[in-house]
Formats: sequence, structure tokens, C-alpha cells
Amino acid sequence: MRRTKISRAFRRVGKEYRARLLAAADGAQSKLRGLAKIQTIARGYDQSGIVATIGHAREHNGKAVQHFLPSGSFAILPLTGKRSSIVWTEESTEAKRIVALPSAEFLAELELRFGLQLGELEVLSPARSYPLQISIARSFVAERLALVGDAAHVIHPLAGQGLNMGLRDVAALAECIADNARLGLDPGAPEVLSRYQRWRRADTVAMGLATDGLNRLFSNESMPLKYLRDMGLGLVDRAPGLKKFFAREAAGLTGDVPKLLRGEFI
Ligand SMILES: Cc1cc2nc3c(=O)[nH]c(=O)nc-3n(C[C@H](O)[C@H](O)[C@H](O)COP(=O)(O)OP(=O)(O)OC[C@H]3O[C@@H](n4cnc5c(N)ncnc54)[C@H](O)[C@@H]3O)c2cc1C
Repeated sequence: MRRTKISRAFRRVGKEYRARLLAAADGAQSKLRGLAKIQTIARGYDQSGIVATIGHAREHNGKAVQHFLPSGSFAILPLTGKRSSIVWTEESTEAKRIVALPSAEFLAELELRFGLQLGELEVLSPARSYPLQISIARSFVAERLALVGDAAHVIHPLAGQGLNMGLRDVAALAECIADNARLGLDPGAPEVLSRYQRWRRADTVAMGLATDGLNRLFSNESMPLKYLRDMGLGLVDRAPGLKKFFAREAAGLTGDVPKLLRGEFI
């Protein structure tokens, strides 16, 4: 088999693997993306996401809640039992200050945002903060290489779509490979990769722009934006069709959904 640019790069780091296609799922700092010399278009948000597991006295009944606060979104995501995970956006220096607080003071800051609707709160895991960014690879493919998940794209977590997008990538790539393999064709052929890239890149850019826009709209106290935002939320709340559309969008059920995500065989 002819050596590709990436297999030559692997040899330089002292390891050699042979495959007709390599799927790079090694996260936002993807080493494989770097070895393939694929650039990203990236911008930091000067915001960080604080994550922690929180225990509460009352049942959450499987309900996820999101508050849009001036500093950014605050999401409460149900876990098993009387536990929830939080994704709390703050300006980066403020996030650093908050995670370094002694536990009683951290709890007080948390209660201000979480509220006490689920009863007494308890912090079950050390809070950590992660800098937030938008970053999209200039290409999702190279010779015999496909980027999937955060290796291909990182978006603001306010819509909770990062993992969904990665799952869509995997399902789309599997479908492209299976369709070619069924004809006895090479799974790493350029037409497989270009179909995968066409399928996923446009969708990713659209989601990246949407989350970027939502973050600007919600992390802002300018009066016209505040008015637009409140009016928008009110409209969505009163229009069941719109509400359903956003719920389907959040569940990753709109657009060209790959078969595996629709529960079909490939
Ligand atoms: C604060 C925050 C909150 C978020 N909240 C949500 C949310 O509510 N909902 C949601 O859907 N998404 C959320 N996301 C995004 C979500 O976490 C990511 O989109 C998702 O984890 C990406 O999965 P991935 O497998 O592509 O990458 P990762 O989860 O980063 O996994 C990459 C894996 O590759 C491994 N790896 C890397 N390099 C190597 C190597 N050289 N050799 C071997 N292994 C390697 C790593 O150890 C890691 O296990 C959030 C992100 C942040 C930062």
C-alpha cells in the first residue's frame, strides 16, 4: 500500500499502523489533525464552562433546565438518582475565581444560579472549568483520514450539541463507508471521504454559527438585544410548532439525519 502523508508522519513518531482508512476521534487538540496538517478556524470566547456533579434533596424527574444569565448559560442536566450535572458559563477570570472558592462559598454562588427548587444542594465532584471556543477544521478529511467529533469541530456548549454532532459524524461516516463497501469498493476512497465531508461540514458550520449567535444574544445585557431575546423566547413559548421544531433540532432529528441515528440498518 502506498504511504500517505499521515503514515509518513506516524513513522517519524516511531509507530506504524496499516489501514485503508483512519478515523481521528482524538478530541479538540487532535494530534492526528495536526499530523495531517489540517488547520482550524478558531476563536476563543473568553468564557469558561464550569462543570460539576450536584446532589439535591428532591427528584429531578428527568427534567433538564437551562437559565440564560447575563454572564452566559447555566444548564442543569439530570443524572441517575438525585444528582444532576451542571454546565455553568462565566467569563474566564470569574470562572477561575469561582472554582477556587472554599466549598461553602462555592455552594452559595451555585445556589444563586441553581435555585432551591430541588431542595438542599451538595457538590459531589470537584468543580472544574474549561475554556470555551469555536473551532472548525478547514477540512474534515485528508488522504485516507476522516476527522470526527471534536477533532473536526468544537462549539459553545450552550445548546448541548457537541456530543450529538460527533455522533452524527460517526453515523454519517459509517454510512458512507458501508455504501461503498457494499459495492466492493475501497472504504478509504476519495469519493467516500468527499461525500462524508459534504454531508457533515455544512451542517457543522450552520450549528457553529447558530450557537455562536445564541451565545452573543444571551451573554449580553444591551437593551435592544435583551428586548429581542425576551420577545423571541416569548414567541417560541407561545407557538407549539416552533417549540417542537427547536426540541427536534436539539435532539438532532432535523436535516439529513444518518440512518444509524434514525435507528435503521446501514
Ligand atoms: C464545559 C463543557 C461542557 C459541555 N457540555 C456539553 C453538553 O452538555 N452536551 C454535549 O453534547 N456536549 C457538551 N460538551 C461538548 C462535548 O464534551 C464534546 O463535544 C465531546 O466530548 C466530544 O467528544 P469526542 O469523543 O470527539 O472528544 P473527547 O471527549 O475530547 O475525547 C477524545 C478522546 O481521545 C483521547 N485521546 C486524545 N489524544 C489521544 C492520543 N494521542 N492517544 C490516545 N487517545 C487520545 C482522549 O483521551 C479522549 O478520551 C461540553 C464541552 C465543554 C468543554
